[in-house]
Amino acid sequence: MKCFNHATAEAVAVCAHCGRGLCADCSRTQTSSRIACSAECASALSRADESFHQLEVITRQLRDSARASAFYCYVCAGLSAAAAVVAWFLLPSTFLILFTSGCAVVLLLAGIWYGRGGGKRTT
Ligand SMILES: [Zn+2]
Ligand SMILES: [Zn+2]
Repeated sequence: MKCFNHATAEAVAVCAHCGRGLCADCSRTQTSSRIACSAECASALSRADESFHQLEVITRQLRDSARASAFYCYVCAGLSAAAAVVAWFLLPSTFLILFTSGCAVVLLLAGIWYGRGGGKRTT
């Protein structure tokens, strides 16, 4: 393969964006860590880097929100459990006791599920 800019020079590298060949002179003038044949390709590469960075930020935010959801579920589970205890002592209603303790169990499981989902992405 010949250099994209110099038809006579043998390519020693390829553009990381479009895959065109670049000779030693052309690849040496690169300022970024990845080789690009032109300013357009260089900016396209940095745009790709930018969107990858944004993806990382979104992933981090999702992880944080999963953690927040887990915390919220645990709080609600605690409140439901407390309500079940209160209902047990104050209200002679089997339905209320079952309902509130059922909510506590479901919310606790949801909290664990969210917590594990948030933890999985931490690598
Ligand atoms: Zn290129
Ligand atoms: Zn060249």
